[in-house]
Amino acid sequence: MAGTRTFTMIKPEAVAAGHAGKILDMIIGNGFRVVSLKYTRLSHKEAGAFYEVHKERPFYGELVDYMASGPIYAAILEKSNAMEDFRKLIGATDPSQAAEGTIRKAFAESKAKNAVHGSDSDENALIEGHFFFSSREQY
Ligand code: ATP
Ligand code: MG
Repeated sequence: MAGTRTFTMIKPEAVAAGHAGKILDMIIGNGFRVVSLKYTRLSHKEAGAFYEVHKERPFYGELVDYMASGPIYAAILEKSNAMEDFRKLIGATDPSQAAEGTIRKAFAESKAKNAVHGSDSDENALIEGHFFFSSREQY
């Protein structure tokens, strides 16, 4: 059973702090297969487009500046029930609310700088994966 797919980013502050290896290890150790992986950086324009769904939210400008502030890792992951299980593994948006054993509990600095992104639906996972990876970069 190949499972379903989700999309993640290791965000700029977690990469800058040197946590990317440990975060990837946690992801793989929790049963996710890496389908695609890229070390890259979003331009301000690209970050704005990626987070367009949050355009009306008060934190949109801060979020776009932050996501364009440094390199990230982008990845497509595969597992049974991938999207929901990955949201459980990353924990609540605000790390002070995140459960023990989650990536955000271990590595997030704040609600804004919260170490990782996880898609919130199978449909968005597909859109977000294709934002970063062509079909020949997905194995
Ligand atoms: P993500 O989409 O990155 O996985 P999420 O689904 O847990 O996070 P969203 O509500 O989609 O949370 O918010 C997207 C991102 O915007 C958050 O991960 C965080 O970086 C930032 N953010 C959310 N709420 C706030 C806030 N109140 N102030 C500042 N930044 C915020
Ligand atoms: Mg979200």
